[in-house]
Amino acid sequence: MEHPSSYRGRKVVVLGLARSGVAVAKLFHRLGADVVVNDRKPRKDSPEAGELEALGIPVICGSHPQELVGSTTALLVKNPGIPYSAPPVAAALELGVEVVTEVEVAGRLSAAPIIGITGSNGKTTTTTWIGEMLSAAGLSPIIAGNIGRPLCEAAEEATADDVLVAELSSFQLKGTTSLRPRVALLLNLAETHLDYHGSMDDYVASKAKLFAHQTDEDVAVLNADDPVCAELAPRLRARLLPFSLTKRLETGVCVEPPVPAGGQEDEAAAGAERWIVYRDGSGAELRLLPAAELALPGRHNLANGLAAAAASIAIGAEPQALAQPLRRFGGVEHRLEFVREAGGVRYYNDSKATNPTATTTAVSSLDRPIVLIAGGLDRGSDYMELLPLFRSRLKGLVVLGQTRGKLARVAELAGMPASRVADAGEDAESSIAQAVRLAASLAEPGDAVLLSPACASWDMFPSYEVRGDMFKDSAHTL
Ligand code: ADP
Repeated sequence: MEHPSSYRGRKVVVLGLARSGVAVAKLFHRLGADVVVNDRKPRKDSPEAGELEALGIPVICGSHPQELVGSTTALLVKNPGIPYSAPPVAAALELGVEVVTEVEVAGRLSAAPIIGITGSNGKTTTTTWIGEMLSAAGLSPIIAGNIGRPLCEAAEEATADDVLVAELSSFQLKGTTSLRPRVALLLNLAETHLDYHGSMDDYVASKAKLFAHQTDEDVAVLNADDPVCAELAPRLRARLLPFSLTKRLETGVCVEPPVPAGGQEDEAAAGAERWIVYRDGSGAELRLLPAAELALPGRHNLANGLAAAAASIAIGAEPQALAQPLRRFGGVEHRLEFVREAGGVRYYNDSKATNPTATTTAVSSLDRPIVLIAGGLDRGSDYMELLPLFRSRLKGLVVLGQTRGKLARVAELAGMPASRVADAGEDAESSIAQAVRLAASLAEPGDAVLLSPACASWDMFPSYEVRGDMFKDSAHTL
C-alpha cells in the first residue's frame, strides 16, 4: 500500500471494530481520509462506535451493506480475524481494491525499526522478553501488535530512536503487502488455525510474508530446530541469525553442549554446565549465561530465550547486556503460570495453551505427576497427537467444553483408567470450578494440577484470560 498520508480525501473502509479497527480508523481520519467503519455485530455489542462517531467518522453496525465497497474505495483495512470470503472483502478483491490489515498500515508509518515476531507458540513470551532485553541494553522498545496495543497506534508515536517490538499473528501477516521488519523472527510452526487458513501451505505462506520484503540489510532470526524454518532459510534475502537448542551454530545463538533432540537426559545434571552462547560468524564466541539460571521453566522457554537474545542482538543490543534479562525474566500471565500450592499440590494456569502442541510443551515442562484440565472450542482436530503424552505423563485428566468427548476418547485409547478421567461439563458458569474440584480430588501431595486446554476458549468464555482468571479464582478458593 501507499503511505497512509496519501489517502487524504480518498475513501478508506475499515472492517471490524476491535481495538485495532478503532485505532486505524482514527489514524486515517486524522490524516484526512474519508473513513467509513463497518461491523456486522449489532450496535449494542459495539461500544466503540460512539467514540468514532463523536469524531465524525460514520459507523455502520449490524450488517455489511452492499454499497460499502465500490469503485471509489481506495483501501480496505480488515480486522485480521475476518475471513477473505466475507462479502465486503470479496467485493473489494474483485474490484481490485487493496485489502490489508492494520499492521501493514503500521509498517508504512513507523519511523522506528521493527522487530516482527511470529510463530505458532511463544510469541507473547518472546515479544515481552525482547522488550526486557532491549531495555536492559539501553535501547527504547515499544511493545505492540497482537499482544494488545494496536501496532499502528504505537507506530505513530515511535521515533527513529525507538524500536517497535511487534507481535504478529498469521492472520495479521496474511494482510500485509509491503511490511519490512528490520529483524524478523519466526519461532516455530505447528499445525494450528487451519479452520481460517484452509491449509498448512496457506498458513506457512502467511508466516513467510514476514520475510518477503526484507533485504540483505535486514536480519532473519529462524529456529534451526524447526523443519519448516529450515526449509525457508535458503530462500530468504535477509542475513540469517538462527537459534538452536539442539545444534552447535557457527553463527547464531545456541546452547553448549546442545540439548539432545529427543530431550532424553537428566536436565538438572546437564543444565548446570550448559551455557547459552552467541557466535557472530567470525569465530568469536560469547558465553551469555548458564541455561540453568533462567527463571522460566521448560525447554520451550529456553528456546524462547535464545530467540529473544538473537533478535535483540540483531537489532543492536550489546550481547553482554543480555545475561541479566535472560536470568530474571519471570514470564507472562496465563502461560505456565504458577498459581499456588494447596495440600502439597501445585496449581498451574496455562490457559493460553490453545493447541495440542502448547499443551504438550507445558506437560513436558513440569517434572511432577500431572492432573491435566483440558478441552474447549472444537476446531475439528481429533487430538490423537496427545495420546503418547496422556499415556506417559498424566496421572489424571479432567475434560471440559466442546471437545471433552474427543479428549476422553484419547484418554481411553491411551489406556487411562476410567476412574482417572473426569468430565466437568460444558457450562460456562460452573465448569472451571467443577474441573478444579475434580482435579484436586484426583491429585495427591507432590502432584501438579495444570490447566492447559489444547483448545481455544470461545465455546465457553469470552477469552483465554477470563478462563485463566476463573481457574485461578477456583484454585485460590480450594
Ligand atoms: P503465543 O503468543 O504464540 O500464543 P505465548 O508466549 O503466549 O505464545 O505462549 C502460549 C503457550 O505456548 C505457553 O503457555 C506454552 O505452553 C506454549 N509455548 C510457549 N513457547 C513455546 C515454544 N517456543 N514452543 C512450543 N510451545 C511454546
